[in-house]
Amino acid sequence: MGKSHKEQPISRLCQEPKKAKISSANRNEQLRKIPKIDKIMETELVKELEKQYGHERVRTAVRESVELLRQEISGSKALEGFGKWAEASSVAYTEYILRNTKKKLFREEQKRMQRVINATGVILHTNLGRAPLGERLVSELVPLMTGYTNLELNLEDGKRGSRYDHFAENLCRLTGAEAAIVVNNNAAAVLVMLTALASGGETIVSRGELVEIGGKFRIPDVCRQSGTILVEAGTTNRTYLQDYENAVTENTAAFLKVHTSNYQITGFTHEPELSELSEAAHSREFPLLVDFGSGSIVDMAEYGIQPEKTVQELLGKGADIVTFSGDKLLGGPQAGILVGRKDLIEKISRHPLMRALRIDKYTAAALDKTVGIYLDDRKLEEEIPVYEMMGRKFGNLEIYAPAFLKKLTRCNPEYDFMITSTRNPIGGGTTPGKTLPGAALLIKSKKKNGPSAQEISNRLRQMEVPIIGHIVDDWVYLELRTLLSDDFEIMEKELIYDL
Ligand SMILES: *Cc1c(COP(=O)(O)O)cnc(C)c1O
Repeated sequence: MGKSHKEQPISRLCQEPKKAKISSANRNEQLRKIPKIDKIMETELVKELEKQYGHERVRTAVRESVELLRQEISGSKALEGFGKWAEASSVAYTEYILRNTKKKLFREEQKRMQRVINATGVILHTNLGRAPLGERLVSELVPLMTGYTNLELNLEDGKRGSRYDHFAENLCRLTGAEAAIVVNNNAAAVLVMLTALASGGETIVSRGELVEIGGKFRIPDVCRQSGTILVEAGTTNRTYLQDYENAVTENTAAFLKVHTSNYQITGFTHEPELSELSEAAHSREFPLLVDFGSGSIVDMAEYGIQPEKTVQELLGKGADIVTFSGDKLLGGPQAGILVGRKDLIEKISRHPLMRALRIDKYTAAALDKTVGIYLDDRKLEEEIPVYEMMGRKFGNLEIYAPAFLKKLTRCNPEYDFMITSTRNPIGGGTTPGKTLPGAALLIKSKKKNGPSAQEISNRLRQMEVPIIGHIVDDWVYLELRTLLSDDFEIMEKELIYDL
């Protein structure tokens, strides 16, 4: 890859121009020294920037930078990089404009969506887009994205079909449910479920489950929004079946269980068995609804994570509806999946909110393919990156690490590098408190006044392919578990050439 072309020219521009004070008498003279836009457009750096950003964008950025400089001189403002007051040569002003132009373009570019290297070790990182899709799955999606599909057409009879039919049956086969429907995300699934089934009635929830999941998804808020009346049962750490039963009135519409995904209550705790709760609900003829965010379908014990329940088990224990995300442990696209009793799923699908929360054709296609992988008995670890990453073992680091570290140290003598074992959470509000043994590359400046961990981390985030790590005790950690495809090679090159 060589020296990153984004970083190269700036070093040439970093010499500080001479500091001087602009007297008001001199201001007009200084303004006249501002180079013409056309002149700037002829510089070598601009030619280079044009290759990357195109002529028009560069010209606009140059014009804006010139305007900024003009305003700064007119207002006698302090110019960045000029010291307090500026009185500089035309050459220095050119450099100033070029530096600002480059910064401006780079900042604009950084806002665009781009590939980043996830070196956080968190497989389901919500800020980084949660589950990445497998390459084979994506290649199967291409003809569905570039062409027309039978999204809502029944090919047998030529009549209008449903976008959910393609995978609803397979979701049922996978989870043992009678029926399934899908909306935009799990928050939407909970909202439409409560709106369709419990609006106007009371929904009983344990006090230990009135949680905020992150991204402002709070169970009490969703209840309010859906028009159901939230009734709290038990205490934060202990809720018994009796507490649920005592809260029942003639207005009770449902029991709601919420998977406390991102935190854990440990120690002196109690919650009733799901089967007890479902019996209590069914004997009174209202449903037991479960918000099971992470939604594991396979036994997590295979991956060294203590058993989490699966969607199948929850349904088996009498949950009437289970909702979960498509992009957490299922490893597919963002979606909110509802599986369970046929009459209830039908009632939900008829609700007008469904039209507002419906999934798009891309999600439908990706979900269809993802569910297919589970049913075709293909190897999850080969097809679904989430499982490939969960299955990684870091036993043989000792063999690989020394050569790698030596190379890094030789190229960056001002830094300390080491490889250490770590623990990786799965993330995305799944499996709280449970981690997998991982490994990370650690970086720290050797110099006392060298860059701090935060500064190194900022630099890594602004590389051509941004690297996102985390910081522990003055070290930047780059976790190996979540590196995909050629991430490792790119990261290695960026660390060697651009750190
Ligand atoms: C993640 C999660 C949600 C939110 O799901 P999204 O798909 O992000 O909308 C809701 N409830 C629980 C329990 C969760 O873990």
